[in-house]
Amino acid sequence: MAEDLNPFKIAQHQLDEAAEIMKLDKQAHAILREPKRVLVMNIPVKMSNGRTQTFTGFRVRYNDARGPAKGGIRFHPEESLDTVKALSAWMTWKCSLADIPFGGGKGGVICDTKKMNDKDIEALSRAYARALGTDMGPEVDIPAPDVYTTPQIMAWILDEYMNITRKSEFGAITGKPVELWGSEGRMDSTARGGMYVMREAAKRLKINPKKATVVVQGFGNAGRFAYTLSKEVMGAKVVAISDSEGGIYDPAGLSLEKLDEAKKRTGSVQNYSSRGAQKVTNEKLLELKADILIPAAIENQIRADNADKIKAKLVLELANGPVTPEATAILFEKGIMDLPDFLVNSGGVIGSYYEWVQNVTGDYWDTDVFYAKLDKKITKSFNDTMAMQKEYAAKGQKINPRMAAYIIAVDRVAKAMKARGWY
Ligand code: NAD
Repeated sequence: MAEDLNPFKIAQHQLDEAAEIMKLDKQAHAILREPKRVLVMNIPVKMSNGRTQTFTGFRVRYNDARGPAKGGIRFHPEESLDTVKALSAWMTWKCSLADIPFGGGKGGVICDTKKMNDKDIEALSRAYARALGTDMGPEVDIPAPDVYTTPQIMAWILDEYMNITRKSEFGAITGKPVELWGSEGRMDSTARGGMYVMREAAKRLKINPKKATVVVQGFGNAGRFAYTLSKEVMGAKVVAISDSEGGIYDPAGLSLEKLDEAKKRTGSVQNYSSRGAQKVTNEKLLELKADILIPAAIENQIRADNADKIKAKLVLELANGPVTPEATAILFEKGIMDLPDFLVNSGGVIGSYYEWVQNVTGDYWDTDVFYAKLDKKITKSFNDTMAMQKEYAAKGQKINPRMAAYIIAVDRVAKAMKARGWY
């Protein structure tokens, strides 16, 4: 039977698996299987052509036992409530594993921004903010950019929010432009955090950092910074990279200048020109022989039907949900270290947390302080995950890193709910 790739079913399945291993209290489990609150909004927007178009928007507050909900807003033509629910659940575990004082949330609007002009995108962003009203806020629910949303969109949403509340609350949203007290470090914090995790995992796997070869799927915010920072943080060499059109592979390594040039000139990195380089499909890219594979594009890329062909020693899930549950089990069987998304890409939300801390305290830091704090925090999450895996191994139970990370995250949320008297 084909794998069920519904993201919310996958999120529930992962929680169920963790709940069984950690013998989670049944009442806590029942609360955590569903979001606390789901908003589905019918949003009419007067477009620049004079007609009113109605959009469907979502905001899900999955759990706020440990603090205000935190999570991005996606503008996507195939957005669905189940995707938003799944992402809000993963945000809950991400914030908990990172041990920052936030719960999990997520939002989205079904729309195709590629077919909209800037005026209409602004009108939609403002209408979304009005529909949400005081259901967002620095102590309530704090959005951020995600797929096809930008710092500029965050600025419009924040402006609308401040018009409603009549308060200067810059901590109501993160991923803002620097002019509105966004953080410079936030731009690359997702990939940077992932690279700190990569550095620590390579040490454990005894991969020589200077000789390490890396394959990256995706050339957006996460993927492009993964390219530059794998060099900067670890000294590793990226031998293949792709975008939605396809990829390019050169065992001698790729040049950023030429990748940018190919992307700009032709719309895709696969048209990179160099003598030793060859085009590769996104399917084949995943199966290349390299030390480290970084899926940094979209979900469900490593599945039951191709997991067996993965040759990397380390899979670093920089995208959300790139490895299905069946594939997770196959990679674990094969002895490949597959580090879960909500650990690897938590640098993004940790960066957002630092932005929020600076906004609510009014105390602004230099970027090197920001990076040093990020390194310390995410390295601790990685070490905690490895320690949890070891703890279960000592009891004779082999669990994969995803389950180890789940157990830490779920336990913290369950304890907070218990202390608050929710069960
Ligand atoms: P993005 O839109 O900037 O880039 C996405 C990249 O993926 C593009 O290069 C696109 O061409 C490529 N792509 C799209 N479809 C593809 C396909 N079928 N095969 C191969 N490549 C494909 O998005 P992003 O911000 O880089 O996010 C990428 C992933 O990382 C998403 O899963 C996102 O949820 C996750 N993530 C991002 C952040 C962040 O701060 N940017 C934080 C946490 C998680």
